[in-house]
Amino acid sequence: MDMTEYKDIVVYIETADKSPVKVGLEMLSPARKIAEKKGGKVRAVLIGDGIRTAAQKAAESGADEVILIESPEYEIFHLDRFANVMESVIKEVKPYAVFVGGTQDGKDLAPKLAARLKTGCASDVMDVKTEDGKTVYTCPLYGGTVLQDVVMETSVPQIAVLRSGAFKKSEETVKGTITEKNIPAADENIRLKIKDVVKEISETVNLEDAQVIVSGGRGMGSRENFELVKQLADLLGGVVGATRPAIEDGWISRVHQVGQSGKIVAPKLYIACGISGATQHVSGIMNSDYIVAINKDEDAPIFEVANIGIVGNAINVLPVMIEEIKKK
Ligand code: FAD
Repeated sequence: MDMTEYKDIVVYIETADKSPVKVGLEMLSPARKIAEKKGGKVRAVLIGDGIRTAAQKAAESGADEVILIESPEYEIFHLDRFANVMESVIKEVKPYAVFVGGTQDGKDLAPKLAARLKTGCASDVMDVKTEDGKTVYTCPLYGGTVLQDVVMETSVPQIAVLRSGAFKKSEETVKGTITEKNIPAADENIRLKIKDVVKEISETVNLEDAQVIVSGGRGMGSRENFELVKQLADLLGGVVGATRPAIEDGWISRVHQVGQSGKIVAPKLYIACGISGATQHVSGIMNSDYIVAINKDEDAPIFEVANIGIVGNAINVLPVMIEEIKKK
């Protein structure tokens, strides 16, 4: 297939509370990198209601063009409806690739689009690069133990689900244009009916956006000791993270879980206390700028990824850290 006429990158930017989600804006930087190689444009697509400010933000964050589809019908995410809109935009723009953020909704939308367009889809993409003129998507396998490079040789458009936190937001000052499109909600392909939308009242923890995370693992030993993790996080103005065993032991709620089946994080500072460094945990922290690990076992795998390792009992080390920081 001659793929040279397909040059643009379409980036679907999801909104939450009428603002672009973090991964939405992050995707614009790899999109720009690939679009420049192809001689194409970055076209962001926003679907919703009352999201003009979000579109403006996307236009100031590295998109050449923002395609804005607004209607009360799109106020909440409806998989089939949004897939219809995206399909119609994709058929018009004829992009080389479509990037979708790895959110709950994005992980539903991308494979649905790929199935409809009979094209390939790379999931949980951590890196995108060009090699020998081909776009290479790096994705984890076996819980992050192995990284595979995926190339979609004959597939157009290539669809990729990009992991939140894996890409830094673009510093570009490109001022993109906003094109409003009126795409009414079509009745075709609607297999899903939303009967009611219930807002979950739960503790919200913004681990994805946190600059500092202090996490505790099974090595903290008890709920009482886990309080030290919380104290340090508070002092540093950070957020508390946890491994799965710490959650299963009931020391903290599930929304704090970091890792493969929890949140993928990218803070400036990640402090791991009593955490062994299992791949399922480490795969969620690899985009941290600086990792400090406290573990009493000098052979713990966490030390392989840590910038600073403290071999010691966290129950003794943490109070000292807390006291020293209080003195500052
Ligand atoms: P452990 O592996 O038991 O390690 C405890 C560590 O604490 C040890 O290294 C020990 O030396 C140290 N220690 C003990 N006492 C002290 C002390 N006093 N001071 C200092 N150090 C001490 N896990 C996640 O975290 N997140 C996930 O998202 C996740 N998803 C998973 C998905 C799947 C499909 C599967 C199979 C597993 C998943 N897990 C996940 C579980 C994962 O495999 C590990 O079991 C888990 O990360 C280990 O947690 P831990 O480091 O707290 O405990």
